[in-house]
Amino acid sequence: MITASDAAALIREEEEHIAGTYHPLPVVIATGDGAWVTDVDGRRYLDCLAAYSAVNFGHGHPLLVAAAKAQLDRVTLTSRAFHNDRLGPFVTALARLAGKDMVIPMNTGAEAVESGLKVARAWGYRVKGVADGQANIVVADGNFHGRTIAIVGFSNDPVAREGFGPFAPGFRSVPFGDAAAIEAAIDENTVAVLVEPIQGEAGVVVPPADYLPAVREITSRRNVLFIADEIQSGLGRTGATFQCDNVGVVPDLYLLGKALGGGIVPVSAVVGNADIIGVLRPGEHGSTFGGNPLAAAVGLAVIGMLETGEYQRRSKELGERLHAGLHRLVGRGVLAVRGAGLWAGVDIDPALATGREVCELLLERGLLAKDTHDSTIRLAPPLVIEAAEVDWAVEQLEAVLAGLRA
Ligand code: PLP
Repeated sequence: MITASDAAALIREEEEHIAGTYHPLPVVIATGDGAWVTDVDGRRYLDCLAAYSAVNFGHGHPLLVAAAKAQLDRVTLTSRAFHNDRLGPFVTALARLAGKDMVIPMNTGAEAVESGLKVARAWGYRVKGVADGQANIVVADGNFHGRTIAIVGFSNDPVAREGFGPFAPGFRSVPFGDAAAIEAAIDENTVAVLVEPIQGEAGVVVPPADYLPAVREITSRRNVLFIADEIQSGLGRTGATFQCDNVGVVPDLYLLGKALGGGIVPVSAVVGNADIIGVLRPGEHGSTFGGNPLAAAVGLAVIGMLETGEYQRRSKELGERLHAGLHRLVGRGVLAVRGAGLWAGVDIDPALATGREVCELLLERGLLAKDTHDSTIRLAPPLVIEAAEVDWAVEQLEAVLAGLRA
């Protein structure tokens, strides 16, 4: 039995032996159920981060837990040296969900991004005819695609990249939301444009409505791949299966992760068509864990849930409620609100408090949220959240801001 005093001891124990790359809020979670988690002292919190959208379906969703438990009793890891009986159904269902015909199964989001970059370069050399070693890829300022050396190398966040060079060459970054800048950056050696349809880590930054359609038009006309990193924006978060759906575009490659693993196991993927992904040959890419039977079983259950459309609908309807509530706080401690579906970036008036301070005050009131870039907080509750809980979350923020303004 864990006692109240254990929380501080557990934090101390963790901090003594863990690399100091995070600055967590002082809460020690012990259990989770739906949109709620409970700490070691028995206090409940509404989880409005949902593990950066990896827990889109809530903690311990019975369908996902059942799929995982059933697979635990069968087989969990085979490697891709052999076939497993869950992988075919999983990649078939995932390709169908995305309207594509080929999948590269991986584990983490960063691996999906790296895999997409490899596909793009290989496609550039083998199909487009770019001279060997000359390929370039256009990315957007403010991007966040993960933490590997190649990826942080084309980030322009100094905290993410400084001290980790030298970096992989072949990337050029242009302002996010500026399609003309993409067009200008493309030359005969450009193989891909990689963007997040909504930039999550940057503060849930939504580009102009005509941006992604313009990116699609430009990349098609210039024979360049359009890679959409939907690792955070995809799989129901924005009120659609993909944020690209909301603006009526179909990229060449979807990068997926986070919620694909149902909050249970890391599952990521690159999804596209065989004329692009098919350029990879045996031995050129792989992963010991990618496509393992446990991941595939959980991923298949996730896709089955998305195929009902229920979660996209909930995200859209409850998202409108969330955004309406947050917009009422503009001018009362909130400077601006952005987002789509059950996903919001809320700029707090920096004269009142930092985003971190607001998150600490929300924690005291039983709500978990995460700050980014000084005075922005992000809200991304599980899509199983109820309307009354959405209202309650807005009320907590309202009360925190009222306290700060008093
Ligand atoms: N791409 C986007 C858009 C993300 O938001 C993230 C993580 O936050 C990643 C990639 C990296 O995913 P992972 O942390 O699973 O490597």
